[in-house]
Amino acid sequence: MADGVLIVLTRMRRILEIDIPNRRAVVEPGVTHLAVTAEVLPHRHQYAPDPSSQMVCSIGGNVAETPAARTASSTGSRPIT
Ligand SMILES: Cc1cc2nc3c(=O)[nH]c(=O)nc-3n(C[C@H](O)[C@H](O)[C@H](O)COP(=O)(O)OP(=O)(O)OC[C@H]3O[C@@H](n4cnc5c(N)ncnc54)[C@H](O)[C@@H]3O)c2cc1C
Repeated sequence: MADGVLIVLTRMRRILEIDIPNRRAVVEPGVTHLAVTAEVLPHRHQYAPDPSSQMVCSIGGNVAETPAARTASSTGSRPIT
């Protein structure tokens, strides 16, 4: 097996900025999908697309894999709605 480098980003879990008027969030890649939704829920928003893994999956993993779930047909795969 060739040499390799493992980059672990799971400790990068900060939500840096939530911009509700522009429906934009700036987050570190290790933050969970559910944590973003919890942050925007008081503003009556959610982080789509609502995969079943949202309690554990990271935003970095979401961006890499573009999950889709029941809300994706109406929201697209990655917006704050
Ligand atoms: C129980 C369960 C339910 C699920 N439900 C759904 C569902 O309803 N709908 C759906 O579409 N999918 C679903 N999925 C799959 C879902 O797409 C992934 O769980 C999630 O999007 C990937 O995020 P993760 O943090 O788990 O990534 P990981 O599994 O950790 O990584 C996935 C890939 O992304 C890469 N990656 C991770 N972080 C980064 C980063 N920061 N930069 C670059 N690459 C990175 C990894 O190297 C790997 O190749 C489910 C999975 C599980 C286990």
